[in-house]
Amino acid sequence: MALYPHMRYTGRFAPSPTGPLHFGSLAAALASWLDARAAGGAWLLRIEDLDKPREQPGAADTILRQLEALGLTWDGPVLYQSARSASYRAALDALERLGAIYPCGCTRSEIADSALAIDGARIYPGTCRGGLAPGRSARATRVRTASEPTRFTDRVLGEITQLVEREVGDFVLCRADGVIAYQLAVVVDDAEQGITDVVRGADLLDSTARQIWLQRLLGYPSPRYLHLPAALTASGEKLSKQSGAPAIDAARPLHELARALAFLGQPVPDAANAGEMLLRALERWDVSLIPCARAAAAPP
Ligand code: GLU
Repeated sequence: MALYPHMRYTGRFAPSPTGPLHFGSLAAALASWLDARAAGGAWLLRIEDLDKPREQPGAADTILRQLEALGLTWDGPVLYQSARSASYRAALDALERLGAIYPCGCTRSEIADSALAIDGARIYPGTCRGGLAPGRSARATRVRTASEPTRFTDRVLGEITQLVEREVGDFVLCRADGVIAYQLAVVVDDAEQGITDVVRGADLLDSTARQIWLQRLLGYPSPRYLHLPAALTASGEKLSKQSGAPAIDAARPLHELARALAFLGQPVPDAANAGEMLLRALERWDVSLIPCARAAAAPP
């Protein structure tokens, strides 16, 4: 599904500023940086700061400083999603002209009885698909899904198939609080930034079919996808900023890069500094060594 064959490899790292980088986000940043640089490609940085209530003040700047301390240099200006609402609105308008979206008046508690989707949200039962019931007013905007399977080939995990309509249902593109949903913003930005390759944690694997569904509706090419194992604590819990995963220690870049390389199945070279370690890791970068798993324990 390399639909950008004429284009130079362009990768990206797209952290949400909900806290400083933790080990799992470092592994994603390092893998996407190495994959882009090994291909002679560009590596862009995008701060996904649409969800203001979940944002931690100062976290975006902290992430930039952490990446710099590790030697993970990016190309061009940083893109902030909070400055991109006109592009997201234009995409919503295009979807509306296609008849692909509809207003939904359901509250959270009204769909609380539906089955759980793969990502822990509720599968939307389609209540408002045929129009809002009399007296109901629009809250969120949803996109229509269809019964056909969405398939893609992940560079590590292989063939992935999702029945988006059955497993997720018509999903939200604009929330009841007016915030554009991650699924739409990421698709619009990946297309406008000319992203050819998405390298990220497998905690986002279940989002990929939704993103491909939107790319097809909007007439965008699909990037190639590579999902890394999501990092787990020694006791098997997912490392995440929300669950209070510790920040990486930017004062010990060699130690942090070595841990991340080991997690990615790569040889850990001897090096005097972060720059040297990255150069050596680049020479030996081998995607076939990345563990083929949706999750794996972070090294101590
Ligand atoms: N902003 C998302 C996160 O921090 C990542 C988005 C992506 O890589 O597609 O989990």
